[in-house]
Amino acid sequence: MKYIKNRQEYIDFYDLLTIEECLQWIELVKESGKKIQEIQKPEKLGYVGALAEIALYFKKGENYRKKEKTIDEWMERDKRSQEKYDNTHEPQNVFCNECNYGMKLFDKTLNQKLDDKPRMLFFFECPHCKKRKGIFEDGENFETDKKCPQCGSILDSKTTKKDEIITITDNCKKCDYGYKDVWDFKADEEKSRKEKERQKYLLDNFRSEFCLSEKEGEEYVMDRIRDENFKKRENEQKKKEDDPKYQKAMKLRKIKVIELQKIIEEVITKNEFNNLIFDKPETDRQIIIPFSVQETKNERSGYDGSRNLKRAIIKVLENTNWRLMSDGISERLGILSGKLKGYEKEEDLVKIVKQ
Ligand SMILES: [Zn+2]
Ligand SMILES: [Zn+2]
Repeated sequence: MKYIKNRQEYIDFYDLLTIEECLQWIELVKESGKKIQEIQKPEKLGYVGALAEIALYFKKGENYRKKEKTIDEWMERDKRSQEKYDNTHEPQNVFCNECNYGMKLFDKTLNQKLDDKPRMLFFFECPHCKKRKGIFEDGENFETDKKCPQCGSILDSKTTKKDEIITITDNCKKCDYGYKDVWDFKADEEKSRKEKERQKYLLDNFRSEFCLSEKEGEEYVMDRIRDENFKKRENEQKKKEDDPKYQKAMKLRKIKVIELQKIIEEVITKNEFNNLIFDKPETDRQIIIPFSVQETKNERSGYDGSRNLKRAIIKVLENTNWRLMSDGISERLGILSGKLKGYEKEEDLVKIVKQ
């Protein structure tokens, strides 16, 4: 039994799904109501309308984007099945229930039910009476007796073969349940041959149309990444702009040193100081300007003077991009000094506005 196939078979299968998805979409737009199986040999497509084209662009691109990963997963799954099939040991010492002879392994299969862990199933035959039984890898017996879905008793099952047609009839002895299943191998073979032919036709005629080459695919992926980044930036910008702190920060008046000097000059005059001197600025991420003023009122205490000046400067700068630095104002012998800090960048301005 071979579970793992060569990569090209997986690629063909994946491409076929893409082709069918796209063709199905076109049928949907045309409102033909055709199902995938009915789309036998479509003609050249032609123009399908702008809206359909856009949807197709994304279908093709997204299928390209998921292609490698999906194929890797399929191959990985089949590799696991293959390993399980090849390497699981059959149960030992299996004896016939009828005559107690040691039974011989004659077949094995991987039992795969949906949502279930696949288990290996081994079939044994008694060399003496030819009775057969199936045992799972974990020792559980495989139930061969079919049970009646109506009353639960064991069904009387008969298989007849005529030419290539196998007929299975199940009848219940206890109730009126009966079931007939017909397998026509020749018809199945014909159906499968036709399906393969259809698949080949689709691959030959539509692969280049719907399955992107690496170059086209990578272009699509890059475009999507650009789009996503743009959207992300847009969202971040919007979020930022919606923040009241940001809105406040953007309303701050950005002033240059010359205007700052004028403002401070006015404040100190009003508060009875003079001789404003701006020292050499320190330029870093922000601009820091040390300054000093002189007390004009001999009777005012150093503490009162620096407190008054501090309050006045903080207030007058509140709506600008300048701040009195946190050391505040110091005073010695009537000289009051402090530092002013100027902010330029958006993120810094957001930090200096009050909540
Ligand atoms: Zn036996
Ligand atoms: Zn029954």
